[in-house]
Amino acid sequence: MEAYTEIREAVAKLCAGFPGPYWRALDREMAYPTEFVNALTGSGYLSVLIPEAFGGAGLPLSAAAAILEEVQRAGCNGGACHAQMYTMGTLLRHGSDAQKAEYLPPIAEGRLRLQAFGVTEPTSGTDTGSLKTTARREGDAYVVNGQKIWTSRAEHSDLMLLLARTTPRTEGMKRTDGLSVLLVDMREARGNGLTIRPIRTMMNHATTEVFFDNLRVPAQNLIGEEGRGFRYILSGMNAERILIAAECVGDAKWFIDKAKAYAGDRSVFGRPIGANQGVQFPIARAYANMRAAELMVREALSLYEGGANPGAEANMAKMLAADASFEAANACIQTHGGFGFAEEYDVERKFRETRLYQVAPISTNLILAYLSEHVLGMPRSY
Ligand SMILES: Cc1cc2nc3c(=O)[nH]c(=O)nc-3n(C[C@H](O)[C@H](O)[C@H](O)COP(=O)(O)OP(=O)(O)OC[C@H]3O[C@@H](n4cnc5c(N)ncnc54)[C@H](O)[C@@H]3O)c2cc1C
Repeated sequence: MEAYTEIREAVAKLCAGFPGPYWRALDREMAYPTEFVNALTGSGYLSVLIPEAFGGAGLPLSAAAAILEEVQRAGCNGGACHAQMYTMGTLLRHGSDAQKAEYLPPIAEGRLRLQAFGVTEPTSGTDTGSLKTTARREGDAYVVNGQKIWTSRAEHSDLMLLLARTTPRTEGMKRTDGLSVLLVDMREARGNGLTIRPIRTMMNHATTEVFFDNLRVPAQNLIGEEGRGFRYILSGMNAERILIAAECVGDAKWFIDKAKAYAGDRSVFGRPIGANQGVQFPIARAYANMRAAELMVREALSLYEGGANPGAEANMAKMLAADASFEAANACIQTHGGFGFAEEYDVERKFRETRLYQVAPISTNLILAYLSEHVLGMPRSY
């Protein structure tokens, strides 16, 4: 698998233009990193997965993983825009030729943002099959009613990929059947049946709740076949998990570098704190766990690029990398002592940011449940 050394160096260079003070100021205001997202988009990094025929770079998933890892490793936050990379896959794999021709080129050029992904609902949570948002066909449109929660970046995106129920659930029907994916143009929809409300969270993530009140979406914006939407979303989830895992590896590397540097600089009792095993070992352990997670990310990428849909490896990569980044975050705070909590060191901000990946886009328990059932053959626990 290619190392993408040149891309990594170029991304690191771009990110150097967005240092800690830039992110701290945004964090205080809970503001969106527009300049950063524009810079990444303008350099073509968010469209590397779009085929060349549609104006992208046509690179494999490992290139996207390298980009997102470097973003996090540089102390930036790819959470502001990473979804464009994997939500676009649903359109690419299952969209019609007309949809691809209409949307992919402007996305690749950076004129259109596809950053919002509306799956989770307040009452159904992880149990996607019981979501309640409906899309009822009426003539040449679907009429959408319901609510989504945690729809990140909705205020900063032009398009949203929405999963809604088009066929009411009846007895005997598979719970994930009857769901469909619609591409919602939020530029037209806001104020015409679509309301977006920001949710303040412990980190700056531009997440929202979204309400649909008789929102009309043209029927031509249905992706693929009606009723098969869950499969389409599912087919993109392994890519999503692998990319989030790559981000966590990048976070872990940032924390380890930062902890190592501070352990060498800070002297207490007349010598660097890093000379104490009690300070070294947690950092060394975090390093070992990061490397193990990185290997699993590579395994998942190589299987994915070989044409497999590696559910087990994508899930394990995501879980191990999220654990590794949080372990490294914890070691980094501990190494910094009191300064770990001071805003100006960026450690507390990154600590809050990386904590998310134990829960989203899929929580650790659900990964363990998947491995228990589908890999180890134990009974389904829920
Ligand atoms: C900042 C942020 C951004 C997000 N962005 C998006 C987005 O852009 N689009 C989107 O659609 N969603 C998004 N999400 C939603 C995210 O994917 C969900 O929060 C996550 O999947 C967990 O769902 P839930 O919050 O409903 O938790 P629940 O499903 O209510 O689960 C709560 C807890 O119970 C555990 N649990 C539940 N069921 C079981 C079980 N059977 N066995 C063991 N444990 C169980 C879970 O592991 C979890 O720890 C985001 C969430 C956050 C916090």
